[in-house]
Amino acid sequence: MSSPSCIVHIALQTPAHSGVGDLLSYASERPLAPGTLVRVPLGSREVLGVVWDADEATGELPDGATLRPIAGVLDGVAPLDLPWRRLVAFAARYYQRALGEVALAALPPQLRDLRPEQLARRLRRPGTASEVSQDAIQNIALTTEQEIARGRIASENGPFLLFGSTGSGKTEVYLRCVQEMLEADPTAQALVMVPEINLTPQLEERFVGRFAPRFGPGAVVSLHSGMTNPQRLKSWLAAHSGSARIVLGTRMAVFASLPGLQLIVVDEEHDPSYKQQEGARYSARDLAIWRGREQGAKVLLGSATPSLESWHASDPAVGRYLRLEMPSRIGAGALARVRRVDMNQQPRRTVFSAPLLQAITERVARGEQSMVLLNRRGYAPVLHCVDCGWKSDCPHCSAHQVFHKTDRTLRCHHCGYTVRVPFHCPTCGSPDIHPMGRGTEQLEEQLGALLRNVQRPDGNPARIARIDADTTKAKGALEAQLAQVHAGEVDVLVGTQMIAKGHDFRRITLVAAVQPDGALFSSDFRAAERLFALLMQAAGRAGRDAAYMAAQGTQCEMWVQSFHPQHPVFEALRTHDYPAFAARQLKEREEAAMPPFSYQALVRADARTQEVAQGFLTAATAAAHAAQLPGLPDGTVILFPPVPLTIQRVANVERAQMLMESHSRATLQRFLAAWQPVLQATRSQPEHKGLIRWLVDVDPLAI
Ligand code: ADP
Ligand code: ZN
Ligand code: ZN
Repeated sequence: MSSPSCIVHIALQTPAHSGVGDLLSYASERPLAPGTLVRVPLGSREVLGVVWDADEATGELPDGATLRPIAGVLDGVAPLDLPWRRLVAFAARYYQRALGEVALAALPPQLRDLRPEQLARRLRRPGTASEVSQDAIQNIALTTEQEIARGRIASENGPFLLFGSTGSGKTEVYLRCVQEMLEADPTAQALVMVPEINLTPQLEERFVGRFAPRFGPGAVVSLHSGMTNPQRLKSWLAAHSGSARIVLGTRMAVFASLPGLQLIVVDEEHDPSYKQQEGARYSARDLAIWRGREQGAKVLLGSATPSLESWHASDPAVGRYLRLEMPSRIGAGALARVRRVDMNQQPRRTVFSAPLLQAITERVARGEQSMVLLNRRGYAPVLHCVDCGWKSDCPHCSAHQVFHKTDRTLRCHHCGYTVRVPFHCPTCGSPDIHPMGRGTEQLEEQLGALLRNVQRPDGNPARIARIDADTTKAKGALEAQLAQVHAGEVDVLVGTQMIAKGHDFRRITLVAAVQPDGALFSSDFRAAERLFALLMQAAGRAGRDAAYMAAQGTQCEMWVQSFHPQHPVFEALRTHDYPAFAARQLKEREEAAMPPFSYQALVRADARTQEVAQGFLTAATAAAHAAQLPGLPDGTVILFPPVPLTIQRVANVERAQMLMESHSRATLQRFLAAWQPVLQATRSQPEHKGLIRWLVDVDPLAI
């Protein structure tokens, strides 16, 4: 090849531990704008890369070496703009990952496999033009609370925290804000994020139904991991080219290329699924705030139970976010009345207390729906032998194998190891082996027996259904099962947290948490916050249609069976008093200097033995102190000793972690950046050969 006119620096995904820096240099015959997508040789392969920046032509290469030429340019795709590149660079820096890794993970997977000609063909396919409909469609009238929130979002800068009860009409506020934003500017785009795929089908219909008539059939696109690669590419290209006006997606959508972005909505902003748990462990909610500020887009977070971080930030005394409140339910509907059952007063081994069973029975007889929540799938969490005490431990993990009765298997929920249920105890041969504890499968079975003689208004027996990760594995299964509930073909729905969140069920009038105590005494300081949010969300599924409730002459109820019914979590639930709950939690956190009053990061180490895992962390800690890394000499950054994870061994890998804490986010960041090379160097020492991997988790959600 003739001497290159340009040197371009490319962000690309290099193999792990290749030791290659963030950007690789290549030669190009013509100048390429930053953000241009290219294909370049890497070893013997050809891979996708993004031009990060380009040098003026010099013809001279650093040490006389020749740079490899780029292999091709994806000309059909406009370069990724500066705000997108800045977002990726920030995320890589903040979450301590390689730039190329984050950049490539942010692009649709199929883009990696397409050659420029193939992509060009795809781009030539006629898309759906988005034309604005000519007849201006009727808007539904907002309530006073909604109208006030809408007005402030329109006139102020935010970021906003929309604190609205379940069923207060938050989604309607999002829809209206998006609509106004897009109507005011034909190039404007909005990003709406939701926590999980299972919430998307219904919401997607609502968005398409609202916006397709106004902005054209291609105006709304989705982005989530449940889509096929061609679908994802199509959505991504539509957003990138500006033809899609609204992107509705899960956490990954925070990285969508949206040149006209003016509004980001983060629905159920407290939901832990906004935190990515592998690779770059980013928080899509936190990145949304950053992206909004950088790109000049408004950010609207919404929740009935905000994260304590967001609640604190929206405290008028702190003033980082603007808090907007919508306490009332649409149609003057009432929130569920909370009824606590003291399980100490119930016969031993009671699953459904008599008053709860009675309440469910009455609802079935009236044709109303009930929902029973238990956050544990399978039939029983463990099988045990009465004679010798054997338990169904997973041979590969420090966890029990869960008993699944439907297919008579013992399954490890951590590594997937599955065996058939033995007829005799594997240790002593006794036939006396029994399940201990219960999961959703068992609840479904027991409820079936208990409600056997209960009739619906049409004289037919009660219909019980279960929704959890086991019943929804097949593609489309969840949608089908949810549709049955919406269509009124189910009387009692049993399930895990999957059924508690977001769904706009119209006929559920009773929700029961049969065994929520487990989370009360967890070592995780966020467990109470999560339990409270889950129960409030679950309660929010009941009584959502005020007109139906009035017609039925019924009241909605949330039942909690507990051995600690007076616990402050349940006390706050009873009064639906999130602010009081949050105030108490924040006071505790402040006294203990925990988030949001401090910042945390974790380093995790995986190895064949716990000694090696902890040894690596101990050595890296000593090296950090010896090097006097930022924050250590004056104690601004505190390093805690390594400890095994709660589930110490998974798939024969021993796991340890150590916590870092600082009251200064900036200092913690400086420390982490300086520590990376120290960790790398420690890892390459021969005594840590047995280490499998290490990773950093910034702002971890589970510690
Ligand atoms: P949230 O997101 O706060 O749980 P939604 O926006 O889903 O609440 O609203 C709950 C129900 O009330 C939905 O069925 C919605 O269509 C309806 N709704 C929302 N706003 C209004 C309004 N202004 N007038 C009539 N119905 C409304
Ligand atoms: Zn035995
Ligand atoms: Zn296992």
